[in-house]
Amino acid sequence: MDQQWKIETRNVQAGWQPKKGEPRVLPIYQSTTFRYDTAEEVADLFDLKTSGHFYSRVSNPTVAGFEEKLASLDGGVAALGTAAGHTACMLSVLNICTAGDHFIASTALYGGTLSMFTCTLKKLGIEVTLVAPEISPEELRGHIRANTKCIFGETLSNPSLKVLDIEKFAALAHENGMPLIVDNTLATPYLCRPIDFGADIVVYSATKYLDGHAVSVGGAIVDSGKFDWSGGRFPELTEPDPSYHGVVYSQQFGAQAYIVKARVQWIRDSGAYLSPMNAFLINLGMETLHLRMECHSANALALAEFLEKHDKVEWVNYPGLPASPEHDRLRKYLKRGSGVLTFGVRGGMKAGEKVLNSLKMAAVVVHVADVRTSVLHPASTTHRQLSVEQQREAGVSPEMVRVSVGVEHIDDIIADFAQALEQV
Ligand SMILES: *Cc1c(COP(=O)(O)O)cnc(C)c1O
Repeated sequence: MDQQWKIETRNVQAGWQPKKGEPRVLPIYQSTTFRYDTAEEVADLFDLKTSGHFYSRVSNPTVAGFEEKLASLDGGVAALGTAAGHTACMLSVLNICTAGDHFIASTALYGGTLSMFTCTLKKLGIEVTLVAPEISPEELRGHIRANTKCIFGETLSNPSLKVLDIEKFAALAHENGMPLIVDNTLATPYLCRPIDFGADIVVYSATKYLDGHAVSVGGAIVDSGKFDWSGGRFPELTEPDPSYHGVVYSQQFGAQAYIVKARVQWIRDSGAYLSPMNAFLINLGMETLHLRMECHSANALALAEFLEKHDKVEWVNYPGLPASPEHDRLRKYLKRGSGVLTFGVRGGMKAGEKVLNSLKMAAVVVHVADVRTSVLHPASTTHRQLSVEQQREAGVSPEMVRVSVGVEHIDDIIADFAQALEQV
């Protein structure tokens, strides 16, 4: 494959590279297992002495096609498909944090990630400190402890739509010998490549724009291969692993140490691997990622401009609007504004509900980032498990309506919101 290819070309051409007589399109390898000739060959695979697919709980050729494409798009050395985006977020942290460890995360996160970090990981003995994305370097340094293992943030947060200052957090992580993990779900590699700005690990909910058609749940972790694990903070990567006959990941796998460990420990033990069918569908979606992201972004900007001028709308949050406080950072880190916006209707929660219920084309669904325009009320759904205070910290207000702007004709999208606003 040509590494010089532009991202549009790699969306279509990267990943599956058929040899003579093989299927042109990434095939679905719907097989749990793979044939070898001798017991020794299989034993070597188990010992990680050689590489090859042997069991679809750990790796599969269809999923590998998706993994190779995504790693290429992001400029990483390797990627790992996971059963869901949530799995990717969780394993990205568990891969380097054990009981007694601590990490730092931005408050501007997806609701499910916030409760996973503050409740589920806490039960496993891993403590998180949540910090405002605007935190000063001095203040952030004050939160770093001897047992702090990483910093976690979202490129474009869902649903508060804050743009992460990736360079600031990467510099602070690196000066303290730890990696920056970035959830790039709403941006996608087409709008932003976090590794170019210093992120070390990138995670995705592939359920969103990568698939793009709301047909499959999946996720991924991408390893930049740039982080040096040998500083002493990460013995799990630099000391023998008893569950693999004492393999030392950083020695045996070099730049791929983190991602190999995530696969052979966490995916092996949890089985939370992406299925071949879902990898096939997500890969198919990714072939048009660049076309869709341009259209989502243009439509979202046009709808944001319409709502901004509407006298029944109190506020609009879309980082693509020049008036947005996020606009300068958007221009630095992202090619476009992506397809999600939020707004508040005058009259608060009741009026917001009326608009939601009056939409005819845009459907109320618990999803973002597919081709169909959809709406959601975060406070009563995705962020329901959080207190009002936590909701506010995550950028969710009671009246907020979240719109995932689709790729329908913009006139039809605007007409739907115009008629719904008239019902208030
Ligand atoms: C949806 C989402 C997740 C969780 O992904 P699933 O595929 O639903 O498990 C994580 N992060 C962000 C930013 C999301 O939007």
